Amino acid sequence: MIVQEIENLRKDFPMLQKKMRGQPLVYFDNAATTLRPLAVTEALVRYYTEQTGTVHRALYEFAELATDAQHKTRQKLQEWIGAKSEKEIIFTSGTTASLNLLASSFGEAFIKEGDEIIISEIEHHSNFVPWQMLCNKKKAHLKIAPVLDSTELDLNALESLLNERTKLVSITHISNAFGTENPLEEIIRIIRRRSDAKIAIDGAQSVAHMKINVQKLDIDFYAFSAHKMYGPTGVGVLYGKEALLNDMPPYQGGGDMIDEVTLDYSTYNELPFKFEAGTPNIAGILGLGAAIDYLNKVGLDIIWAKEQELLAYAETRLNEIKNITLLGQAPQKGAILAFVIKGAHPLDIATLLDLRGIALRSGHLCVQPGLKRFNQTSVLRISFSFYNTFNEIDFFIQSLKEIIDSLY
Ligand SMILES: *Cc1c(COP(=O)(O)O)cnc(C)c1O
Repeated sequence: MIVQEIENLRKDFPMLQKKMRGQPLVYFDNAATTLRPLAVTEALVRYYTEQTGTVHRALYEFAELATDAQHKTRQKLQEWIGAKSEKEIIFTSGTTASLNLLASSFGEAFIKEGDEIIISEIEHHSNFVPWQMLCNKKKAHLKIAPVLDSTELDLNALESLLNERTKLVSITHISNAFGTENPLEEIIRIIRRRSDAKIAIDGAQSVAHMKINVQKLDIDFYAFSAHKMYGPTGVGVLYGKEALLNDMPPYQGGGDMIDEVTLDYSTYNELPFKFEAGTPNIAGILGLGAAIDYLNKVGLDIIWAKEQELLAYAETRLNEIKNITLLGQAPQKGAILAFVIKGAHPLDIATLLDLRGIALRSGHLCVQPGLKRFNQTSVLRISFSFYNTFNEIDFFIQSLKEIIDSLY
């Protein structure tokens, strides 16, 4: 697919035709949430207007359709991440919910007083706080693997933290703050060599941008959100190896997750339903199915290549700005750039960019410890999707220059 063809895809995204503050929208906040192609919202509307029915509870036609459609999405997801079985795909409400499910249930099954869990210094709060809470509850120890000045994980330091007490290592694939891509193959090799720890990967920033194969990489758990992969909000996935999930207790009790309920005890449903209590976000799940179809149509190779070009161009152009510091100089990166400008508060700059129709993220990015490592409490972040353009970057740089001139 050539550049022109990719830019033609912009017409699939109604939000890209919108104006913000009277200016054409320049959407550079794709790491927070991507926009959705019409095919995804059409799937949502179709569910609510033409084929409403619930899953697993009834035999009428529309209930069967919903059950079938949910099943199809699960199969698409299994294929998307290379899972062995669709039983390993658990629907949640998002990455945060997936990681909380994991911390609670894995913690219940496998974490005892004195055990150790390792995360990295630059994790999203969603991959930080649940482990902190679990370790407090279980009197276990949370070890923090440091990063180098480039924001890359310090692999030697990681290796030295591993021992027979390490029960789990949970790290991000791509940092939502700095874009750093962790070398999973190498990291997993080190962990397997030094310990029996299970490995959880936060895939929120990678799943829609690069090919992942959980079996080839030998990942134990992988978490992600639909809304960062062109799907609806309120849906996410936890992948887990079947044998591990079988050894973990349910997270929540309720409908669908049971086999038999008596006055004294209950037995639980098989995977994946054991972890899916209550009516799921059926419309959202169907929307996620449509998002995967769309991504398959565009192709991950093309998506990655285009986003890397945008990243390289934006990096070059940002270096023209005086007094700028780019945070995160890892050689392997997703299309995410965080930066600060000396003497100008990120929130002021974000407010003035908003007036020009430019949407970007400002603040702590849900990575307070990671920012602190680089002596920051608040930064600016731009993050790209394949539908962004070089012209948008030019307009953004021009605007940034004018805003900085007006502030000094
Ligand atoms: C967005 C994000 C999360 C949290 O995802 P939610 O959809 O808000 O639950 C976790 N980790 C990373 C790396 C993220 O980018």
